[in-house]
Amino acid sequence: MTNVGTVFKKNSTKAMLLGSGELGREVAIELKRLGLEVVAVDKYADAPAMQVADRSHVISMLDADALERVVLEENPAYIIPEVEAIATQKLVELEGRGFNVVPTAGAVNFTMNRKGIRTLAAEKLGMKTSPYAFAGTKEEFLEAVKKIGIPCVVKPIMSSSGHGQSTVRDESQIDAAWECSQTGGRAGGGEVIVEGFVDFDYEITLLTVRHSGGTSFCAPIGHEQVSGDYRRSWQPHPMGALALERAKDYAKKITDALGGYGIFGVEMFVRGDEVLFSEVSPRPHDTGMVTMISQNLSEFALHARAILGIPIPEIELYGPSASRAVVVEKNSEMLEYCGLDKVLSRPNTDMRIFSKPCVTGGHRRMAVLLARSDTVERADATTAEMLADFEIKTF
Ligand code: AMP
Repeated sequence: MTNVGTVFKKNSTKAMLLGSGELGREVAIELKRLGLEVVAVDKYADAPAMQVADRSHVISMLDADALERVVLEENPAYIIPEVEAIATQKLVELEGRGFNVVPTAGAVNFTMNRKGIRTLAAEKLGMKTSPYAFAGTKEEFLEAVKKIGIPCVVKPIMSSSGHGQSTVRDESQIDAAWECSQTGGRAGGGEVIVEGFVDFDYEITLLTVRHSGGTSFCAPIGHEQVSGDYRRSWQPHPMGALALERAKDYAKKITDALGGYGIFGVEMFVRGDEVLFSEVSPRPHDTGMVTMISQNLSEFALHARAILGIPIPEIELYGPSASRAVVVEKNSEMLEYCGLDKVLSRPNTDMRIFSKPCVTGGHRRMAVLLARSDTVERADATTAEMLADFEIKTF
């Protein structure tokens, strides 16, 4: 039975979000709707989820001692990682001491490392993937490139969202790819994966939710990445019956291997009827923001329900939909979001402004535009029109 206590009383049901970005913010809202007390954690103050949570803590989540301190202080019923940059070994230890880590500490620890997940998928579960090799030194890297061949994609094993990732299209780019992998990843250098470049027809995210009633799938989400970073997504992505069946089979296998309750973003490449597993993250996925307009239960609502042990009776797709990230490419300490009246003047549209306090590093996703229509093309075109009407002033 799933029961929830009273917030701020000794029987409150507490959830702690590790990572307080735009995805965490939506999870926080869904948990609040179900009556939980939400504690948001991140490395900087006033992060998006902190603004809707009951309380927040600013710590480096890579600092195992600091992480342990806030967990023991708050004693949450659920620890919900929303980013990869966490001292995941500490989560494994905390789980051993009785804390509930979503979906499991093992899954969180395992998926932050591309090596573990690739080996599990390709070698233990027998899934098709791009050809790959790992390299820890420049010499091993040169060997790996030779073995895999050009073109190939080089990624730090500890990275996501395109950080430290590059594509080698000819020999002149080999050295630069190594340099990029050693400076751009999360862990600052270290081992890389060299993957054969897949000339796919399209790539999808198959949102897969493990819940107390079984495993459910959302309709496949197509997306466009720029330098490994999501810019647009749409749902449903048209797929042949065989490819979809294979994709679901892969998603079921990999999420069963990881276990626990919650939503997973399973990324796959599709070429004709052939499906190649790419990667999986045990949390809501940025391309899945489209579900905030396309479905009866968004990926965030599904995550919240699954975590609490609530079965998911049905995921209803309301209709073809699209999302478009709004990226600001100029450092700014203060922003003004202009023309919301125009942006939202069209039927079946919505938006989220993430309320990030500033733009640093010359590049930050600040909002998302959402539309539903009778075709994904029309929904996508609507988000393009919305973007044209949307102005973000920087100060
Ligand atoms: P990842 O961080 O592994 O999801 O990679 C980010 C994006 O880079 C993917 O969504 C693809 O668009 C592209 N990509 C990654 N690996 C490959 C590959 N082996 N072949 C072609 N494109 C790739």
